[in-house]
Amino acid sequence: MPDRPVILITNDDGVHAKGIRALRAAVQAFAHVIVVAPTREQSATSHAITIDRPLRHIEHETDLHSIDGTPADCVYLALFEPRFLPRRPELVLSGINHGPNLGTSVFYSGTVAGAREAAIRGIAAMAFSAPVDADHEATARHAAQLAQRLLAADKPAGRAVLLNVNFPKQTPRGVRVTRLGEQIYEEHVVPRRDPAGREYFWIGGRVVDSGEQEGTDTQAFADGYVAVTPLELEATNQSHMLLATRLVTDA
Ligand code: MN
Repeated sequence: MPDRPVILITNDDGVHAKGIRALRAAVQAFAHVIVVAPTREQSATSHAITIDRPLRHIEHETDLHSIDGTPADCVYLALFEPRFLPRRPELVLSGINHGPNLGTSVFYSGTVAGAREAAIRGIAAMAFSAPVDADHEATARHAAQLAQRLLAADKPAGRAVLLNVNFPKQTPRGVRVTRLGEQIYEEHVVPRRDPAGREYFWIGGRVVDSGEQEGTDTQAFADGYVAVTPLELEATNQSHMLLATRLVTDA
């Protein structure tokens, strides 16, 4: 079937994670799928790339590769080292992450970064996340359906489409197009001592408030809907241009 689209899949939970296995199986129904994913878990590595050490590659089987780096490393290598892909992919998918990536989590998420790296390179991309205890197979079928629709969709000129998709724990009540909410975590530091008496820290806490305003991904997720948020690659804050101009202008 020479007309099958080429789809690259990555994640941040590692090549052996259930979420990526389920997504690969579901997308293989309509596409030539190549997985290039981190060898070990890379959750919360955001958009880091590895430039201070060599990147090792394992070919687990045909079209199933792992790299001992980050999700962004995986997408970069897959796109620019010719051995991985038969041609430039039509779509890049990341996930399905074990855990939601809602609101401000998109800044920490390795899953979202894997998709964003593709979008920066001009390729349409989707990041998928679901609660750890969600039904991976059902979620993967739904994710594959959304991917198939994006493949077929007319895409606007300009920057590549980047969609952040979060599935609820239970069977979805529907799908909503959303904007990012404000996922608020405990601002928490735990100081402890190791057996040698040296101090160490654990940072990061649980979600304490999902800032569930109308139209947000956090609200849709809380209501039991799939949340689809289109993400922007433009990071300039136009509303702070004037402030910045005043700072650098002599009084
Ligand atoms: Mn993860």
